[in-house]
Amino acid sequence: MNNKKVAVIGAGIIGVTTAYELSLKGFKVTVFDKNQTCSEESSFANGGVISPGYITPWASPAIFKRLMQEQFAKHASILMHFPSLETLSWLGKSIKASKSERYWRHRQALQKLALMTQKRLKELVQSLGIEVEQSQGYNVIYRSERHLEMAKSSLPYLTDLGIPFQILDKEGLLQKEPALESDTPFSGAIHFPEDQIANCRQFALALRDEAEKLGVVFEFKSNVEPLSADNPKRLVVNSKPLFFDHVVVCSGIGSVKLLNQLSLPIPMTPVYGYSMTAIIKEPLDAPRCGILDEKYKVTISRQGNRIRVGGIMEFGGEPKAQSPKAIQTLYKVLEDWFPKATDMGQQIQVWKGARAMLPKGSPIVGQTPFDGLWLNLGHGSSGWATSCGSAQVLSGMMAQDIPDTDWLELALN
Ligand SMILES: Cc1cc2nc3c(=O)[nH]c(=O)nc-3n(C[C@H](O)[C@H](O)[C@H](O)COP(=O)(O)OP(=O)(O)OC[C@H]3O[C@@H](n4cnc5c(N)ncnc54)[C@H](O)[C@@H]3O)c2cc1C
Repeated sequence: MNNKKVAVIGAGIIGVTTAYELSLKGFKVTVFDKNQTCSEESSFANGGVISPGYITPWASPAIFKRLMQEQFAKHASILMHFPSLETLSWLGKSIKASKSERYWRHRQALQKLALMTQKRLKELVQSLGIEVEQSQGYNVIYRSERHLEMAKSSLPYLTDLGIPFQILDKEGLLQKEPALESDTPFSGAIHFPEDQIANCRQFALALRDEAEKLGVVFEFKSNVEPLSADNPKRLVVNSKPLFFDHVVVCSGIGSVKLLNQLSLPIPMTPVYGYSMTAIIKEPLDAPRCGILDEKYKVTISRQGNRIRVGGIMEFGGEPKAQSPKAIQTLYKVLEDWFPKATDMGQQIQVWKGARAMLPKGSPIVGQTPFDGLWLNLGHGSSGWATSCGSAQVLSGMMAQDIPDTDWLELALN
């Protein structure tokens, strides 16, 4: 039992899973969040996809071509407002990180984390009796032959990692997803039988209860002020100073402000995304599991009696302003694949969230040059899929069960 006092800043999915794992290692954990409860920001209404088969860093060799091509299209997966100098410099770093060899290293690190998350999620759901809306299987649909062929070229790599998949033609996909609109043209799909959809927020709320049973204290409505370079283990919370043996920053996009006095190399930018959630009208007309429309990078998932459509990468713009073009793209993809799943006239919940994105597209998990200051942040597009895995890695490093050298791709550098 090490009994050291740890502050976790942030109660999104990363903070909650990290607090839980740290507590199992014997740390005395307090979680601070400025919101009223957990999972109120990026972890609120994400796509729910946990796909070790498909998970890829944002900075892929093909993405920049796509970014240029899509700016004038009616429907687009990437939206760019007039870019600031900061955004341009961030994109420059991203282009470097997308170079083939680095891309594959980052992709492998993400896949390892996603596989760990899947395993851990299953263990926790079973052992703790957590109820979470889940469905099994993920279909990545390619509208063009060229993109399907490109995707096929990376399949041997998945075989090496032991990730099962199946290439499907139209009939094969309709067997998996009988409600799919068969008139929408597509070239084929890759089916990942072990990948899954699960409700991130529901899990975070349930795991918070379990963490509390282990003694973790959650302090909500608690704003933490930017950490000081003199002593980052001294927190100022709602104007009150508090001292800890370790501090773990899991603050999503809020990490930028929290860490700005420490001069750490963390070039994080918000990349906004959208989701629409609606009640399913007729279950037989809805998806059975998860699909990704690869052209628009939009996911459609079933979460209990609701359908959720999510995606879009928006650079710049106001955090609260919703882009009509983004929402139209989500509607288009839903109508293309499951036009009868929901009543479009009913109340549809539209949500906009900020992905805390690093240029390389994989997170930072590990220690900083400041004694006792640790990071688990920058999970970008895949923080749900990397949550339980990164929490295990970080808690293992802090308890000195895992050497940092095992996870150099996630190190701060
Ligand atoms: C549209 C969309 C769809 C997505 N779909 C998927 C998906 O299908 N699968 C997937 O794996 N990922 C997906 N993601 C990404 C995923 O949602 C995020 O990576 C993940 O939620 C990040 O979790 P987090 O805990 O790091 O951040 P957050 O959930 O944002 O949590 C950070 C917390 O820190 C708190 N905080 C910040 N600063 C302070 C401060 N100074 N004091 C106190 N508290 C503070 C905030 O209040 C917040 O609660 C999606 C994202 C979007 C936007």
